[in-house]
Amino acid sequence: MSGTDLVILGATGSVGRSALEVLDAQSAPQPLHALTAHRDVAALAELCRRYRPRVAVVADATAIDALRDALSGTGIAVTGGTDALAEVAADARVASVLSAIVGAAGLLPTLSAVRAGKRVLVANKEPLVMAGELFLAEALASGAEIVPVDSEHNAIYQCLPAGYVCGRTPEGVEKLVLTASGGPFRTWSTEAMRTATPEQAVAHPNWQMGAKISVDSASMMNKGLEVIEAHWLFAMPHEAIEVVVHPQSVVHSLVAYRDGSLLAQLGAPDMKIPLAHALGHPERMPSGARMLDLVAAGDLTFEPADETRFPCLGLARAAIAQGATAPTVLNAANEVAVEAFLAGRLAFGQISEVIASVLDRAAGGTLPAATELDAVLRMDDWARDNARAAVSGSKGTTCQA
Ligand code: NAD
Ligand code: MG
Repeated sequence: MSGTDLVILGATGSVGRSALEVLDAQSAPQPLHALTAHRDVAALAELCRRYRPRVAVVADATAIDALRDALSGTGIAVTGGTDALAEVAADARVASVLSAIVGAAGLLPTLSAVRAGKRVLVANKEPLVMAGELFLAEALASGAEIVPVDSEHNAIYQCLPAGYVCGRTPEGVEKLVLTASGGPFRTWSTEAMRTATPEQAVAHPNWQMGAKISVDSASMMNKGLEVIEAHWLFAMPHEAIEVVVHPQSVVHSLVAYRDGSLLAQLGAPDMKIPLAHALGHPERMPSGARMLDLVAAGDLTFEPADETRFPCLGLARAAIAQGATAPTVLNAANEVAVEAFLAGRLAFGQISEVIASVLDRAAGGTLPAATELDAVLRMDDWARDNARAAVSGSKGTTCQA
């Protein structure tokens, strides 16, 4: 790896913007090779004028001309389309890539960075859920250094011995403990949740995040996805990954060692902290986040997760237990269901029902392994079609893998 620069995939999002704020806190920030966005030209152009990357990329190629107009006279190169995302992520001038796109759309560009042996800072959890086995195997083969950014996984990474390499089972660890805030519906009944609105679902008590992950937090699918993410990042069986509800979001996760020691990472609920850790690792850099005041934080409480009121947690565990491409199916069905919920086409309580029905249908066929990219993409497509059919109440297709 010879490059020096940074690429931010998904720069206009919540995580992408927090990363740029971390760069603001540095006296000599890492140079930026590229900033990317889906199709929000105005937001991307504004960030580019301020942060001066070499290249600006829109995933939606129909927005290239508008981006070129918006950046005319700046000297910033403009490209677009999904191949362009993969290209900037593998560029020889690049040392590190922050993967902060939302959803499965981040898979190919992130994999491109992994294959090129970059240091890959992973916030975008969906690619790990859909293709974690492939992802970590490619990283071990190319020597790409994976640094988790999702706050729980970053906390665990910080509590593992120095020099730990993602994708290898850590020595002496009995279990991992993921903390969950419980989301906005932590105390709600199943009946009340059933008809909860998008506005209620995205109103997270502790974290400011994009709409999709906010809905996932409300259904606790976010924690289910994170169990699968941890399973691949840390090569631990899902049975050794416990979920504990901790409403204050102060303890970001823990590692339980064989001798009875529990190591935790604590901090304010601010993504700038794991981002600064990942960007600076193994050095420590300022993040611009406030320091947690332990006395002001008050009581820290922990309670069991309720899989009856939050069935998505159990669905995620069932998918990882089933193995092969079942997590790919789970992820795709969830993305479609969340999109339908946000668009007002599905009740909140139906999100888990759509996912369960698509997983059931998948279990009726033979699921291909998740070790080949083609199979992953095929099952992602299949699950999306079936989830759309389930949302609209029509019949899906039998899984013919
Ligand atoms: P967001 O919706 O705020 O931003 C998403 C970014 O991805 C935007 O820049 C958008 O332009 C881009 N994007 C969306 N669709 C795309 C497509 N089809 N092709 C290319 N680019 C596309 O999301 P976010 O909250 O920043 O989350 C990003 C990822 O990080 C998610 O996977 C999420 O689960 C994970 N994450 C987020 C947080 C958080 O605090 N927001 C914390 C932990 C993990
Ligand atoms: Mg998280």
